[in-house]
Amino acid sequence: MIALGHGLWVKTFAGTLEREMAAALREVLGEQADEAAVAGIGDNAWLTSSDQVNRLVYAVNEKYTAIISKEAAKAAKQIGVRMDDLGDRPRVRMMMSAKVNHMARSMAATSKKRLDDIRDRLASGEITQAQADAEVKQAFGFDTDASTATAAGRDRYDNARANLAAETEGQRAATTGQRLAWRESGIVRELKWVAVMDGRTCMFCAQLHGSTVPIDEVWFNQDETQIVTDAAGREHRLTYSYDKLDGPPVHPRCRCKLVPVLVRGTRRRDKR
Ligand SMILES: [Zn+2]
Repeated sequence: MIALGHGLWVKTFAGTLEREMAAALREVLGEQADEAAVAGIGDNAWLTSSDQVNRLVYAVNEKYTAIISKEAAKAAKQIGVRMDDLGDRPRVRMMMSAKVNHMARSMAATSKKRLDDIRDRLASGEITQAQADAEVKQAFGFDTDASTATAAGRDRYDNARANLAAETEGQRAATTGQRLAWRESGIVRELKWVAVMDGRTCMFCAQLHGSTVPIDEVWFNQDETQIVTDAAGREHRLTYSYDKLDGPPVHPRCRCKLVPVLVRGTRRRDKR
């Protein structure tokens, strides 16, 4: 297994995702060489096709499972348990592959939405062709203008966006790893949500702070809505449309974490 530092992992992971999406897009644009621009993209259904999703899964699978495994090992150590075979357990493998698939599908759907949005605004005259081209370039990190696009130009990626996405995915992977290890350990009864409570804490994380769920349960199922009423009596809603909320992050740059609550009477110990 490849051991990568978090920062490096984020960069590699981000690069892989963006490169893969960009490569797929270029492939389609290449077929329409004369109109290698937004207007030429037309129907974007291919972005979320199973072929495309599988390509993404294939591209990120190894790195994604590596980070989940690494986080799982850290989480096991945190409760004084060694589980060297964790990654070989069928249930664990199944959960990991489900996570990777879900992530790839969501990434593809997000990209498609961005592209559809650009195309629609171009069609309605809200933006010019040049603006649309620039937006696609920004969204996918490569040059859509066939006349100026060089191999090097096409390989320039918008790293800020990619890094933030990868950071968020990294946090999701950490939650997955922790939950897997703690669930498999048999000594964790509940998960406790701990937020960093200061002036920057968002109201959704603040509301979750200190709450617990049984080890097999989640805070919110997919498409469920968290409602927070502020001091002025106004309601704020956050719908978990991306995935169920089984732990942090609630949003990019979320500073929350999970803390395991052990089964009563269990003491931290080494299993072997
Ligand atoms: Zn948070």
